[in-house]
Amino acid sequence: MVNWRASLLVNNCIKRIQNHPGAPPCRLCADSGSMSPGLCAECYIDLPWNESPCTRCALPQGNGRCSCHGRPLPFSQAQVPLLYEGAIERLIVGFKYYGRLADGLLIGALLGQRLVTPKETYPEAVVPMPTTPSRLRERGFDQVFEIYRGLRASRTAPPVRRCLKRRPARVHQARLSARRRHSSVRGTFRLRQRPPRYVALLDDVVTTGATAEEAAWVLREGGARRVELWAVARTP
Ligand SMILES: [Zn+2]
Ligand SMILES: [Zn+2]
Repeated sequence: MVNWRASLLVNNCIKRIQNHPGAPPCRLCADSGSMSPGLCAECYIDLPWNESPCTRCALPQGNGRCSCHGRPLPFSQAQVPLLYEGAIERLIVGFKYYGRLADGLLIGALLGQRLVTPKETYPEAVVPMPTTPSRLRERGFDQVFEIYRGLRASRTAPPVRRCLKRRPARVHQARLSARRRHSSVRGTFRLRQRPPRYVALLDDVVTTGATAEEAAWVLREGGARRVELWAVARTP
């Protein structure tokens, strides 16, 4: 279990020192002297960190046993360092729906900074959650690939392998309950190429987890022995 808050507090003093007077303004409060990756120390500390998440599904766990226990999951581990609320929600909405690509790089860098993956099981490839061709045309960019670019700027990252293809959704996911969403995603993905043994499935936001689970099952059935889920934010 990762305690984000503890490590943040330990780093607090260091981060304050890293605010540079000549650096670009913070992307959240516009104060001058942002540190890497584009936020001032105060805004960075105040981000909605996903404290003590479940290592299987990344839901904030509190003190109890996570509800995911007792059912099979395709992930060996889920790393989702932030919650989809407050400043992170604003950054992600601005990035995805208003095309603020710099914010996509920023949230990718935030994810990259928080990933902890042992050498022995380090993914051989990052598989970006695919988008449909019509969504890609509408948006003009691939949001998960932009997040990958930010991630790669903040740390070494495995190469991208586009192993999955996505079929257009028949019903808009946001309108479905969590239970119906699980059944509605069956058959959404198919393999384009055989995945390597260890992969990291990369996504922006995990809501119920149904879509990420379905994609990970397809990768597992296609030959991946270990699928880690890497995503920026989890709906609490
Ligand atoms: Zn700030
Ligand atoms: Zn869980």
